[in-house]
Amino acid sequence: MFLWGAKNSMGYACYRISRDRWGGYGVPAWCGYPGCSKKIDRGMAYACGEEPFSEIGCDDYFCEKHREVQGFKMNGESFLDYLCDHEEDCDCTFKEVCFSCSGKEQQYPYGYPTKPEHHDWLKHQLKDKSWAEWRKENPEKVEAYKVLLRFLKKPRPKKESNKPLI
Ligand SMILES: [Zn+2]
Ligand SMILES: [Zn+2]
Ligand SMILES: [Zn+2]
Repeated sequence: MFLWGAKNSMGYACYRISRDRWGGYGVPAWCGYPGCSKKIDRGMAYACGEEPFSEIGCDDYFCEKHREVQGFKMNGESFLDYLCDHEEDCDCTFKEVCFSCSGKEQQYPYGYPTKPEHHDWLKHQLKDKSWAEWRKENPEKVEAYKVLLRFLKKPRPKKESNKPLI
């Protein structure tokens, strides 16, 4: 797993997973599934592919309802080659992944659109003592998060359906 840097943040075990995103079980987040407003965290337990930045999975995080177990062939060449249909003797690897990565929702071949950060997390970064140094080093982000928080409303739960979207 590639980490941008780890940070010890009071009660929030977290590490940087991209420029502005933090992962770890201490980071509250929305489930990455479109329309799902379940609050989860960015711990391994919720990671698509069971860990972020692994060979399989989209590096996003999903609630229980929006992950499923899929068999993967590790020698596939294109994305769909990886999905195992278990027709012959196979020694595929089973991983819990989101419906995009399991091939169930092929209209999303590269994962789902990225959601905004959870407001609880933004508030934590703006207010908690353990982030004081980060705030000093990132004044422009602090301003941006303040603006964002003002506009960020809880994503409206949409009616969920188990049927594919097309
Ligand atoms: Zn995925
Ligand atoms: Zn969900
Ligand atoms: Zn198989």
